[in-house]
Amino acid sequence: MHQFGAVSVYLGHQSGKYPDGNQIVVRGTDRVVAFDTPLVSRTLPGVFDDVQAVLLGHVHEDHLAGLSALPPTELWVHEGDLEAARSWEGMTRHFGYAPEILREWRLRMEKEFFYQARPDAQAYAHGHVWSLGGGVRVRAHHLPGHTSGHCALLVESEGVAFIGDIDLSGFGPYYGDATSNLRQFRQSLQAVRELDARVWVTSHHRGVLTERKAFETALSAFTAKLDQRSEKLLHLLQDGPLTLAELVQRRLVYPVGFDAAFVNDAERRMIEQHLEELMQQQLVACLDPSTQLMARVA
Ligand SMILES: [Zn+2]
Repeated sequence: MHQFGAVSVYLGHQSGKYPDGNQIVVRGTDRVVAFDTPLVSRTLPGVFDDVQAVLLGHVHEDHLAGLSALPPTELWVHEGDLEAARSWEGMTRHFGYAPEILREWRLRMEKEFFYQARPDAQAYAHGHVWSLGGGVRVRAHHLPGHTSGHCALLVESEGVAFIGDIDLSGFGPYYGDATSNLRQFRQSLQAVRELDARVWVTSHHRGVLTERKAFETALSAFTAKLDQRSEKLLHLLQDGPLTLAELVQRRLVYPVGFDAAFVNDAERRMIEQHLEELMQQQLVACLDPSTQLMARVA
């Protein structure tokens, strides 16, 4: 466990490597809040006894995993992800995968992440402040791209920034869902650098960073993945045009052979967004819109 003033950080398995995550609890003199509830939250007896509210940095199965184990607790989520928290129908629009994939994914979410819809979830917006007493303040900073409502939760009084799934992992950014957005993700990777923080906590794998230089180095490597992916797409197209379906089969982000149910849909969404960028840069062109046959521009 790491302690930074009012902030306690409980690392999940392998520093919160997916499917686990890292848990933050912030204790003011009047109120106690938790940031997300990853799987590890279910293994922390007593820690949630005085938690009155859970603030979600964004909505994805691995960040909701402890909610169903808690007593009735306020649940806050950014307005961009609100419907995904409130109902399964909202969640299906959030992911945007094919219906048969979503049916299978829901069963897995229920079994492995104890998923339940939360119709009582309430919305916050960019800039919302929770004052917890004793000068402890949390502010929401909207950093969309991973999801439309993805936020950093900044404990201003302690200089701790929970940056969620801007997770600085070797995998790189994920923007494979319907409400994900590559352009916004690029902007958020700029904005996260400007947060006034001394400690950065990611949801997965990296865990806790306490040196600005180490944070900036990790952030630069994470950001560079985006251009590396565009380069990889151009490379895939160097021997001739390929359809979007063929590009999905060849894989941009996941290794060939990694075949979770959602992977084709997530790959397609990510590849499409890179192709859009490359078309704007006039580096690729669409030869046939019906099959999305793509070619490099010589
Ligand atoms: Zn996520």
